[in-house]
Amino acid sequence: MWYNNILETVGNTPMVRLNKVTKDIPGTILAKIETTNPGNSIKDRMALKMIEDAEKSGKLKPGGTIIEGTSGNTGMGLAIAAVIKGYKCIFTSTDKQSKEKFDALRAFGAEVIVCPTNVDPEDSRSYYSVSSRLEREVPNSWKPNQYDNLSNSQAHYESTGPEIWEQTEGKITHLVAGVGTGGTISGIARYLKEKNPAIQVLGIDTYGSVFKKYKETGIMDKNEIYPYITEGIGEDFLPKNVDFNLIDHFEKVTDKDAALMTREIARKEGIFAGNSTGSAIAGVLQMKDRFKESDVVVVIFPDHGTRYLGKMYNEDWLRDRGFLKDGKLTARDIIQK
Ligand code: PMP
Repeated sequence: MWYNNILETVGNTPMVRLNKVTKDIPGTILAKIETTNPGNSIKDRMALKMIEDAEKSGKLKPGGTIIEGTSGNTGMGLAIAAVIKGYKCIFTSTDKQSKEKFDALRAFGAEVIVCPTNVDPEDSRSYYSVSSRLEREVPNSWKPNQYDNLSNSQAHYESTGPEIWEQTEGKITHLVAGVGTGGTISGIARYLKEKNPAIQVLGIDTYGSVFKKYKETGIMDKNEIYPYITEGIGEDFLPKNVDFNLIDHFEKVTDKDAALMTREIARKEGIFAGNSTGSAIAGVLQMKDRFKESDVVVVIFPDHGTRYLGKMYNEDWLRDRGFLKDGKLTARDIIQK
């Protein structure tokens, strides 16, 4: 049995029970491991769906150029689909993201333009503005706009949601997912809540992002916005793909807790996952009181650890940010003392 091309391998990802990092949490905690997608992240699903929908609507024409502001994972999904389907890709991203992510995009022939992180979205240097300008000036180009393009959440309504329902035989009681564009959580939540409205949907947010406060007060509070380290989740605006009606609660996780938990998942579960996976599991631990023994909690593991080797998997990086656990000395600390 074989697939006709790599795009046919997107989706149908495994679900694995966690046995150690969540041992103090009542219930069965299941990880939906999205790293087996060809681009090693959940974003392959929505990238392919956005392209297919744009082809159908005529927005993306043969030989066209795809231009997007992306932190890497969406770019990877788009770049792989573009190779198979014959499109060019230009991506804009921010200097906060891992260099490994940019190099991986370039491996698939994409052009990557790195923009400064700490400027307003309206600033002409921001990655939003640069990609909009390129879209205007590059002929035969199309900007998927993953934040507001509802093909994003639709991809998860059509694939990730049904997979989770089938893999848990309809027993899922809670969904836990990081929220960036909102496509993952909203699409899966819509499918699951249609099947069983009692399923609780818990969104993981970061300090420095507006989602939690907006959900709880309806206020878009600019004071909530400040720079943070965690990658892939949190935003300083409200993307159309975040459906607040489908998300029951947001939990905020610190950069430090996310980074340290990301490492623990590799060491205790043997699962090499990215930064937002650490956020999600740290969030599950914070929300311990919400779960009971009979619960089946599905946590989305969006991407792979290789993209973070120079970050939370690197002890110098942790030390520079004061993230090493108090009192914990590494062999190198001892030698240098
Ligand atoms: N984790 C990682 C590593 C991501 O790249 C993203 C996408 N920004 C998310 C979580 C959040 O997914 P979504 O955009 O579907 O909300």
